[in-house]
Amino acid sequence: MSLTLTNDAGTADQELSPTYTLTAEQLDAFGDELDAIRQRVVADLGEVDAQYIRKVVKYQRGFEVAGRLMFYVPPLWPAAVASLSVSKILDNMEIGHNVMHGQYDWMGDPGLNSRMFEWDTMAPSENWKYGHNYMHHTYTNIVGKDRDVGYGILRMDEDQEWRPYYLGNPLYAFLLMTFFEWGVALHDLETEELIAGRRTWAENREIAGRIWRKVRKQVAKDYIVFPLLTGPFFLSTLAGNAVANLIRNVWTFNIIFCGHFPAGVATFTVEETENESRGGWYYRQLLGSANITGSKLMHVMSGNLSHQIEHHLFPDIPARRYPELSVEVQEICERYGLPYNTGPLHRQLGSVFKKICRMALPDRKPSTAPDPAGDVTDNPLAA
Ligand SMILES: [Zn+2]
Repeated sequence: MSLTLTNDAGTADQELSPTYTLTAEQLDAFGDELDAIRQRVVADLGEVDAQYIRKVVKYQRGFEVAGRLMFYVPPLWPAAVASLSVSKILDNMEIGHNVMHGQYDWMGDPGLNSRMFEWDTMAPSENWKYGHNYMHHTYTNIVGKDRDVGYGILRMDEDQEWRPYYLGNPLYAFLLMTFFEWGVALHDLETEELIAGRRTWAENREIAGRIWRKVRKQVAKDYIVFPLLTGPFFLSTLAGNAVANLIRNVWTFNIIFCGHFPAGVATFTVEETENESRGGWYYRQLLGSANITGSKLMHVMSGNLSHQIEHHLFPDIPARRYPELSVEVQEICERYGLPYNTGPLHRQLGSVFKKICRMALPDRKPSTAPDPAGDVTDNPLAA
């Protein structure tokens, strides 16, 4: 495999040579070290973690109640929207995504259990858990298997064959960002498989039924019931709810895209991940993810997915642990000579935006003989 790495100073991109690929023994040792971290943290989970997530839930509810109440006072509309947006972001990121990964199942709290939790977004938890927890987290960045590579709409990797359709890549990305919760909900229908005839509507009936029921509930809540409750302010409440959903959509899209698509993130082929060892799985999760540096508030608002690398290494460990784990993970990466892709939000976002635009066009260089260990996924130096 070869790939490029954006360094933390943001001054230069360097191409990593295949020497970064570890031997089978090194991969095993690498995997053992990460397994040991995991076991240690799992054994250490307790009251502090429980108190933390309960506090986040309390804040989320507080912001939601405050936001919905402020819609009764028209001059407070901007504050109402801001408050409701924060509530929705906390619900989706630090609470929803993480709880549905089973990070807090050990607490035995039905309200924080992955099997029972339902979030404030169009995507039904049942569908999402399969598409995200299973498909995306198992097959991370394997082109053709991880449907989050382009979401079936975008071209985000050179291994996705270019077609004139992809000229619209930036437009599709903009639309996906704006309507992200709809995109996430519809993602599970695997529309591209339907179009290709590899899947039938009948097979999708159950998934579609869940989406329909959830969409009805969400639309009724944000666009009918709560606006009606504010009586004469029906329209302004409806608009406020729509703006809060939009703000949440834009934020979550950006955080998620920074987690897998900045320069330097590697993709893999199905062939090279056949017979993958435990260490190999960790290796792919590390090289297929990217972090965002920032303040503590930024980490909380991103559901700690600003530590996407640690999340992919330890998806079911409470996300509040990721910042402390990142120190250890970076130290291990240094010892094994592995890249650790991180940078501030603006730089990771700029890098993602460049990739979205570059992938809209056919590749400049015709691909040469295939590299036995993989493909260059992103090479700003070659652009
Ligand atoms: Zn996840």
